[in-house]
Amino acid sequence: MPDIDQTAESILHLVPLPAFADNYIWLLHDDAGQAIVVDPGDAAVVERALAERQLQLRAILLTHHHHDHIGGVAELLDRHAVPVHAPVDDRIAGATVRVSDGESIELTSPQARFEVLAIPGHTLSHVAYVGDGLLLCGDTLFSLGCGRLFEGTAAQMLASLDRLSRLPAATRVCAGHEYTEANGRFAHTVEPDNPHLQARLREVAGLRARQLPTLPSSLADELACNPFLRVDADPVADWCRRQHGGAGDRVARFAALRTAKDAFR
Ligand code: ZN
Ligand code: FE
Repeated sequence: MPDIDQTAESILHLVPLPAFADNYIWLLHDDAGQAIVVDPGDAAVVERALAERQLQLRAILLTHHHHDHIGGVAELLDRHAVPVHAPVDDRIAGATVRVSDGESIELTSPQARFEVLAIPGHTLSHVAYVGDGLLLCGDTLFSLGCGRLFEGTAAQMLASLDRLSRLPAATRVCAGHEYTEANGRFAHTVEPDNPHLQARLREVAGLRARQLPTLPSSLADELACNPFLRVDADPVADWCRRQHGGAGDRVARFAALRTAKDAFR
């Protein structure tokens, strides 16, 4: 008999679990019911999803120390003896496997392999997990936007986004928040004539009208639409120059965008 189980088990299903006002906890599971969660800020949300789908939690991955991303870990560990992968940071309690840039994580159940990328900027110890065609990027890259600079510099954040930009274009971007509509309003002020952005905004409006997630997006879409990945594109560079009246390298352009977005309402 052909070993269909093995094929079935190697497929990872991806489910964004809405939590709090606008967070997503990412749930990945195979057809054998083995699951991983990324950034479980709320344990109850995870427990409900596991129960509904009859899944067994096998691992937790954390991108950064903010409470809305790690707040459910202690409670989940009370009920599930699973490894907790997290960057090296004292502010993340309960981590059992510390990960750093360039390392990879091998999971057997569900079968998955993730590469760890250090992407400082939103926080200094922020990491992304890349594997199975997915980018789990926490609060660094959002659809049509990027994270605020709470700890890092504009240069650090831009370097992190540059790294993410070099992943395969088909990579599915699994960000930590549903910020796409608000990000899109800002992006449209920067590049009102970008047809890719216009199409994405129509798609986003349709999804949100039905209360559906706008994520995952594709990296190709972000490269075509997200101003924070487009500081080298002429219309974005021109906009940054108008904001800042002239000079500036690409870090200055990125910083001008980030500052303008911080003030944008
Ligand atoms: Zn955060
Ligand atoms: Fe967050």
